[in-house]
Amino acid sequence: MKKILPLALVLSVSFGSMIAMAKEPTNLAVVKQGLVRYHDSGQYDKDIDHVIKEATRYLKIRLAQPRDDKKPAIVLDIDETSLSNYPDMVKLNFGGTLEEIQQAEDQGSDPVIQPTLKLYQFAKANKVAVFFITGRKEEERAVTEANLKKAGYTDWNGLILRDGEYKNKPAAEYKTVMRKKLEEEGYDIVLNIGDQRSDLEGGYADKTFKLPNPYYFIP
Ligand SMILES: [Mg+2]
Repeated sequence: MKKILPLALVLSVSFGSMIAMAKEPTNLAVVKQGLVRYHDSGQYDKDIDHVIKEATRYLKIRLAQPRDDKKPAIVLDIDETSLSNYPDMVKLNFGGTLEEIQQAEDQGSDPVIQPTLKLYQFAKANKVAVFFITGRKEEERAVTEANLKKAGYTDWNGLILRDGEYKNKPAAEYKTVMRKKLEEEGYDIVLNIGDQRSDLEGGYADKTFKLPNPYYFIP
């Protein structure tokens, strides 16, 4: 009776040195190399710049059609939208525990994301209210304010951090409630900009703009 050889064995018999392999996912080290290349090649910055330019263009169009009933506003997320954690991510080799990530954040030395700063300056110059809505906790307010100022965001109409019941809510839910409150206060949120879909889902913004972030995911 003929024996049926497993495929891997057949290959190694037929081609000698050829390695029979399972169809495995991309190796983690290769993925990390790709993330570094995306950043270091300048493509990450270019992609951010492109999205912010589109957002600015939209804001300009809207400012040309002013409304009497509502005050124009923009909403910016902080991490990977206004400030970059990239140096910390590299130090932690794109990993780290939640404590390590927050410790790094609380150094207060995150560099600016330049295109977003330019949009912020354009908004301020045109009397558009600026609100930061971040997943950072209320306890991080002082360090976050200091970091924003150091990066060039000198003042704002509101800095909203997670507090109370919202500490354990999904980001999309918490951020949506905060935008709803702003609209109830008489603001028209013309732009909402973030690097996560959870920054942008849930409405209460005329247009949303998603910045690239292949580095982490926040549900
Ligand atoms: Mg973010």
